Amino acid sequence: MKLLNLIAASGIIIISSASQFCRAETKVVAHRGFWNTENSAQNSLASFAKADSIGCFGSEIDVWLTTDDHLIVNHDKNFHGLYMETAPFDEIRKIKLPNGEKIPTLDEYLAVVRKHPDTRLILEMKSLTDYSREDVAANKIAVLLRKHGVLDRTDIIVFSLNAAMTFKKLFPTGVKIFYLDGDLSPKKIKKLGLSGIDYSVKVLKKHPEWVEQAHKNDVEVNVWTANSEEDMKYFIDLGVDYITTDHPDKLINLLKNKK
Ligand code: MG
Repeated sequence: MKLLNLIAASGIIIISSASQFCRAETKVVAHRGFWNTENSAQNSLASFAKADSIGCFGSEIDVWLTTDDHLIVNHDKNFHGLYMETAPFDEIRKIKLPNGEKIPTLDEYLAVVRKHPDTRLILEMKSLTDYSREDVAANKIAVLLRKHGVLDRTDIIVFSLNAAMTFKKLFPTGVKIFYLDGDLSPKKIKKLGLSGIDYSVKVLKKHPEWVEQAHKNDVEVNVWTANSEEDMKYFIDLGVDYITTDHPDKLINLLKNKK
C-alpha cells in the first residue's frame, strides 16, 4: 500500500512538473511579413514566403480599400505621395516596392498565402474615413478569404470597433478578431465577443496585469511591435500568446535558446 502511495505521489510530481513546461509557447508573428532580409519588402508577396521559410507562426499584412474599390496590401496611409484611400488603383500600382514588386492586391497576396499552408495570415484592415467604406472593405475581404480557402487560418486585427463588429457578423464563430487600439480592458473585449487584444508594447507595459486578466477571460494577447531583445524577453516572461516583431528571425532564435 505504501509503495502504491509512493508511486501515485511521484506520478503527481512528474505530471505537475511536466505541466510547468507545457505552457503554450509564445508564437512569432512577422510584422508586415519578414521584410528585414534580402529581396524582401514590407507587405510584399516575398515577405509572406520568407516568413513561412523561417517557420513563423504568422505573418501580418495591412489592407486598404482604394477609392475605386480595390483591396491593396500596404501599410502607409500616404505612400510615395499617394493616399491609399483616395488615389485610384492604377496610380497606386505604378509604385514600386524596394524589392521591385508592385504593391500587391489582396487577391494576389492570398494566392501566395494559399501556397504556404503552414503560416497563418494576420490580416489588419486599416481604419477608413467612414464606417460605410469599412463595411464595404470587410465584405470584400470576407469574399476573398473564402475564395482562396484561407479563412480557417486567418486572424483579423483592427483598430476600428465598427470594423470588428462588421467582421464578427460576417464570419462564423471560430474566426478570431483582435482589437488593436489599446483602450479597452480584456474584460470589455470579452463582453464584446472578440477573441483577443493586440496591443502596443507601451500599452501592455502600462497594463501588464491585462495579460492575466485576458487569459482568465479566454481572451488571447498579441503585442506589437517588440523589436529589442529586452522587450521580447519581457513579453515571453509575461506569458503573451503572440509577439509581433520586425525581427522574427531573432525572436525564433531567442525562443529556441530559451528551451
Ligand atoms: Mg499592421
